[in-house]
Amino acid sequence: MAGYTIRLYGDPVLKQRAAEVTAVDGALVRLVDEMVETMYEAPGLGLAAPQVGVQKRLFVYDLNDGRGPNAIVNPTISEHRGEWEFEEGCLSVPGLYFPIVRPKEVHLTGYDLDGNEVSIEADELLARLFQHELDHLDGKLLLEYLDGDQRKAALRALRNREIS
Ligand code: ZN
Repeated sequence: MAGYTIRLYGDPVLKQRAAEVTAVDGALVRLVDEMVETMYEAPGLGLAAPQVGVQKRLFVYDLNDGRGPNAIVNPTISEHRGEWEFEEGCLSVPGLYFPIVRPKEVHLTGYDLDGNEVSIEADELLARLFQHELDHLDGKLLLEYLDGDQRKAALRALRNREIS
């Protein structure tokens, strides 16, 4: 299997709120395996289910720190601290990076694929990734953080790419 096709900006699936996962079963584990494969092929550090057209609240990630890949099911972020600007990109908005300010630290809770609760204090890149993937589950893309001119330039770049 070659994994999934990553849905790109303009696909309506990226603008919808994904539904809570109600059961961690074999089908979900297979979905996660395919998502991990797709993420590595892209390559990217994280991938949310809506990016492969699946409306479920889960994402996979691997920061290449030897601890991945990981999957988080039904994630929530409960605390935000500090501010951090980072050149952020997205596999659904390929090739474009934007300096975006977000909280520097967050506390994420959710479930792993064994159904165990996870609780992670995340800083910098991991905190950024969690916030970015959670946005996908809420139907939000990083373009929504841009101001008017930045956004116009980004949309123009995306349009030109479709034509070429
Ligand atoms: Zn993304």
